Amino acid sequence: MSDVVYDVVVVGAGVEGSAAAYYLAKRGKKTLLLEQFPLPHSRGSSHGQSRITRKAYQQDFYTEMMHEATDVWRQLEKEAGWEVFSQTGFIAIGKYKGNYLDNNASSLQRNNARFEYLAPQDFRRRYPMLRYPDDYSCVADPEGGILRADKALLAYQAMFQKYGGRLIDGAKVTNIRRGNIVTLETPNASYRGRSVIICPGPWASHILRPLGVKLPLKTMRITVMYWKERDNDRHTPSKLHPFYDHGVRGCRGHDVYGFPSEEYPGHVKICLHYGPEIDAEFRDQADDKWAIDLMKEYVREHFPGLEPSPSIVETCIYTNTPDEHPVLDYIPGSRNIVIGVGFSGHGFKLSPVVGKVLGQLACGEKPSYGLNPFRIDRFPLQASL
Ligand SMILES: Cc1cc2nc3c(=O)[nH]c(=O)nc-3n(C[C@H](O)[C@H](O)[C@H](O)COP(=O)(O)OP(=O)(O)OC[C@H]3O[C@@H](n4cnc5c(N)ncnc54)[C@H](O)[C@@H]3O)c2cc1C
Repeated sequence: MSDVVYDVVVVGAGVEGSAAAYYLAKRGKKTLLLEQFPLPHSRGSSHGQSRITRKAYQQDFYTEMMHEATDVWRQLEKEAGWEVFSQTGFIAIGKYKGNYLDNNASSLQRNNARFEYLAPQDFRRRYPMLRYPDDYSCVADPEGGILRADKALLAYQAMFQKYGGRLIDGAKVTNIRRGNIVTLETPNASYRGRSVIICPGPWASHILRPLGVKLPLKTMRITVMYWKERDNDRHTPSKLHPFYDHGVRGCRGHDVYGFPSEEYPGHVKICLHYGPEIDAEFRDQADDKWAIDLMKEYVREHFPGLEPSPSIVETCIYTNTPDEHPVLDYIPGSRNIVIGVGFSGHGFKLSPVVGKVLGQLACGEKPSYGLNPFRIDRFPLQASL
């Protein structure tokens, strides 16, 4: 074991761990980031080319965070020298005057964010490529848009190293020993830190269980589907904004989200916000034909300008908590081991603020945001020391 004691060791170089590592190194903390796979990899939750970002949330605490997150995305792209965030605008789709759209509008209003709440006839006029019932509309969030996921992840990791951080990939943490100085074992070496931040994504149970912590997390394989635009069709959705449809009607009550054609020109990305439960180590054993069938019905009904079968299918993983809010907290019994997990399919956009608050917790500081919705003790811990 080396004599080096890091201020903070971060486990997991997905977007949340990388954001925390970037935040700490930029503040001059001696930081080590450990990743189990050779980078880059596509086995977790942070790979791919696009993620939606939006200030439109039903809960004020997220809308509030998104102001700072948006500023950090801009800062990060300046530092890295490449584009990370494309501000295209975003729309939340739902029943006009229903709870979902009303809550989004209220949260945006209370947090001084710009928005438009369209009447149904204006929704139909502005988005002729969509076919929804007459009482449907949207809340338009002009400050939302598309995050270039792979480029954002690379920017965090490159800037982390530029600020003096050390990144070791291909280093799976197999054991964490608690103490004033925490020891982390990997097959080839052991590392020590005054504090540790664990951002394990879908491998959470593998790393938490030996620490005596069991959270009610559900890992789901998400089928990412791309749908080809029909040639010269008047419904071709080229002017579409990234959207989130709060599944009141279709898809057996599950939500759906999508992006205009970009990553694969001529193909629109539309996905079900739900999937079969898996273990991350056996991800491709799950059957997702039912999810594709459900989405075929959805696309046929709401997107007449698209071919009714997906032309490209990829996969990714969600790690969900029962209330779909992450856990950002110390693990029970240790004030120097922090966990960030359970981002429930919406954590990419939040990562600048998540990285900051995890970093603040690891440094024993008061976090800049109220973390009550993210406390670990809101779930009965099914095992403890
Ligand atoms: C299809 C899809 C679409 C999404 N769309 C959006 C969206 O539009 N907007 C949005 O905001 N969010 C979205 N999300 C969610 C967002 O991408 C995730 O919330 C986020 O990427 C989670 O990052 P993470 O760092 O927690 O997990 P991961 O990216 O999985 O990172 C965890 C890392 O920890 C490593 N690790 C685990 N155990 C160990 C160990 N023992 N030792 C060393 N390393 C370890 C893993 O290898 C992995 O690299 C989407 C997710 C998916 C899958």
